[in-house]
Amino acid sequence: MRPDAPSTAVRRAAIVGGGVIGGGWAARFALNGWDVTLFDPDPEAGRKLDEVLINARASLPTLYDRALPPEGRLIVASTLEDAVREAAWIQECVPERLALKHGVYRDIQRYARNDATLGSSTSGFKPSALQEGAARPAQILVCHPFNPVYLLPLVEVVPSPANDPSFVAHACSTLEQLGMRPLVVRKEIDAHLADRLLEAVWREALWLVNDEVATTADVDDAIRFGFGLRWAQMGLFETYRIAGGEAGMRHFLHQFGPALQWPWTKLMDVPALDDALIERIANQTDAQADGRSIRDAERLRDANLVDVLRALKRRDSGAGATIAAHEAQLPTSPLDPTTDRRQPLTTVERQVPQTWADDAGNLSESRYFEVFAQANDRVVALVGGASSSSPTRHGYVAVDSHVHHLRPVRGAERIFVLTRLLPSDTGQLHLFHQLRRDDGEVAATGEHLLQHVDLETRETSLPSAAIAANVQELVEGHAVLPVPFGVGRRVGQPG
Ligand code: NAD
Repeated sequence: MRPDAPSTAVRRAAIVGGGVIGGGWAARFALNGWDVTLFDPDPEAGRKLDEVLINARASLPTLYDRALPPEGRLIVASTLEDAVREAAWIQECVPERLALKHGVYRDIQRYARNDATLGSSTSGFKPSALQEGAARPAQILVCHPFNPVYLLPLVEVVPSPANDPSFVAHACSTLEQLGMRPLVVRKEIDAHLADRLLEAVWREALWLVNDEVATTADVDDAIRFGFGLRWAQMGLFETYRIAGGEAGMRHFLHQFGPALQWPWTKLMDVPALDDALIERIANQTDAQADGRSIRDAERLRDANLVDVLRALKRRDSGAGATIAAHEAQLPTSPLDPTTDRRQPLTTVERQVPQTWADDAGNLSESRYFEVFAQANDRVVALVGGASSSSPTRHGYVAVDSHVHHLRPVRGAERIFVLTRLLPSDTGQLHLFHQLRRDDGEVAATGEHLLQHVDLETRETSLPSAAIAANVQELVEGHAVLPVPFGVGRRVGQPG
């Protein structure tokens, strides 16, 4: 049976099971503007969710150079019915026991909308196994995420023959709107795709520790100092193709293929996880943590992931391309007929990446320039011009900049920039920015003179008549406003 045509009108999600994964899903939906209701019988569910949200709010928005939509409402529901009744998306995140999941689907489908998508976070069960005995099997499919769900884009979407292709496509499109990268698994198998790979590595790692070849720290170092860095951006096959030299993958397979026949690995065996081995692994991993709590480790992980993803975003590579595509869909304020020319322009609205903070937790000096450079680029785009980062021959470049620091900005704080256009010579843009904190206080001002030039020779050039007219209209509109504090300020001037 095919569920009714999916509706996109209501952006309300229900999360059933609020542990590690459910909390991550709740954060991903809410920070992308969805209202979320969570159901979990654990009386500690609200507290656990709050802990996840603290980490998610400090990291996910900082992947982007534009503001995410306003956060949706988050409610911990007291009954399953209250949680799922109006949800367009229901994400099941209960423990990995098939009978438990079957019972949960029976209850969900009693109350849920027929057109809702019911995604399961299962790490291992096939969708057809999950659908057994369900009232509407076609409504259920696997949407397997990765921890932390609010930061990692991958979600394995695993349908069974019972799922209609249009239902699967709609699920993928919703996940993309959440900034995720749905990877549709072509054939349902136990443990899907990624966990198959991970389990092979995990088995080998357990053997190496069991046989006292390595400590848990040695195994982790073998990954994080070498191939782990490669995998974040090119995966396995693309990396090995390069490893084959100029002859590529064919040479690589001829050279290293025979080694697969040697008894290097113990893939099909598992070491007995007796008390002694469990103790050894637990003690060694505790020692590795070097006194860091799980929460501290999560924050370090998240900060590193944000930096890696931002680096990949800059090159539109791997998971960074997913973030870039999502960012491109986030709204900016266009200069259209409805823009009030007599009000300062909002040129930046964003959350400061945690990693832009100095040791004291405040926005570091160079980042003020980065924020003001974004504001400059925004004005240039608004008036229809190009900047030095655009692939065109003529555009605006900054020739004079002055930043005045007034109050600190904390890492992960939400900021916005209000920009005024001041009178200037033809071919120039004279911009005055106020960087404001979420509480409205001015944290810094930036005054910049931009010159229109031939970007190759850096000789001055005149902008088109259309650009000049746009600039003039804004300058005249802003001229009626009182002159803001700090305009024309010199370095070292008091105040
Ligand atoms: P968890 O133990 O952290 O959380 C499970 C939560 O479900 C608990 O808070 C529990 O109180 C709640 N729960 C139990 N019965 C319930 C019921 N009847 N209704 C509502 N809530 C109920 O487990 P987890 O690690 O979050 O795993 C959840 C699912 O996500 C599993 O299917 C797992 O395979 C999958 N998953 C886990 C990871 C991971 O790294 N932990 C990664 C991807 C997928």
